[in-house]
Amino acid sequence: MAAQRVLVVEDNERNMKLFRDVLAASGYRTLEATTGSQAVELAQRHIPDVVLMDVQLPDLDGVEALRRIRTDARTAFVPVVAVTAQAMDGDRERFLRAGFDDYLPKPVDVAELLGLVRRYGTEVRRPSASDS
Ligand code: MN
Repeated sequence: MAAQRVLVVEDNERNMKLFRDVLAASGYRTLEATTGSQAVELAQRHIPDVVLMDVQLPDLDGVEALRRIRTDARTAFVPVVAVTAQAMDGDRERFLRAGFDDYLPKPVDVAELLGLVRRYGTEVRRPSASDS
């Protein structure tokens, strides 16, 4: 079975390195975007198994990038997890209402990160075909 592909969207290089190292050590392939518009482009081009989306980004924020991913038929079904330091009461619900599949608070807990990637990355949501 081919390695799962995780699109990591993160503008902070130290956080990106953490994601890259942790995911690579667990056998995932990563695609990396540092802006919201790059995230949308890479998602459309590669159709990742799951997206980890930083919310605060330099150009499009994570919520707008998510909206574009959801409104494109090629990527509408791709699971997207919000990753953010905004951990106030009600934020999780706000992100889920915005259309994210789940929420990962920063600082990132490695076990929680891998649990989410495993759960969403292996859920079969593709409309079949073309995925052989
Ligand atoms: Mn950021």
